[in-house]
Amino acid sequence: MAKQTDFAEKAKKAASERGSKCPKCGGIKTPTLFIQSVQSAHGSYRFNRQRVQVCKCNEKQILG
Ligand SMILES: [Zn+2]
Repeated sequence: MAKQTDFAEKAKKAASERGSKCPKCGGIKTPTLFIQSVQSAHGSYRFNRQRVQVCKCNEKQILG
């Protein structure tokens, strides 16, 4: 039974570490890799990769 308790505690801890709660919408923020193509002054494209926290406040903006 001790093992089950340990597992539950670990799962709980992992869940709380994975997503932080948004103070605005109360939703859990999900870390998402946001890739944006950026055109440089020379006309070539490069990809700008950014890790963003997505919740209901900005999901439309990030995910389209
Ligand atoms: Zn939010």
